[in-house]
Amino acid sequence: MPLFVLPDSNKGIALLSLLVSVLALTLKYAAYTVSGSVALGADAMETIINVVSAAGGLWALGIAERPADHNHTYGHYKAEYLSAVAEGTLVVLTAFLIGREAIEGWLSPHPALAPWSGLALNGTATLLNLAGG
Ligand SMILES: [Zn+2]
Repeated sequence: MPLFVLPDSNKGIALLSLLVSVLALTLKYAAYTVSGSVALGADAMETIINVVSAAGGLWALGIAERPADHNHTYGHYKAEYLSAVAEGTLVVLTAFLIGREAIEGWLSPHPALAPWSGLALNGTATLLNLAGG
């Protein structure tokens, strides 16, 4: 028996993806604040991309399904490409931010406060991501 039933529309799946990513972000941010770990903070920052891209994907699917009109004679499907470009831009931006955090942590290191609690929260988020696809 499946853990839950997948929605039968693209927008339903995108909405589920958004909900799962918000929950995962909440858990990963909690893991970062509990542990103070730069690595878990980087993972939380990466998860922000998942939330924004899931929201962008939901928006793009809503736009893309509109029929052609006099301004967009071939339809609105290119909204999905715009969403993909925005996600790629966010990935690059986040990579720089994570790199900056890593360099700062390297130059002035501090031990993680509660690494096991942080890992438990982060692991729960990973399981949630696996279950949510
Ligand atoms: Zn239009």
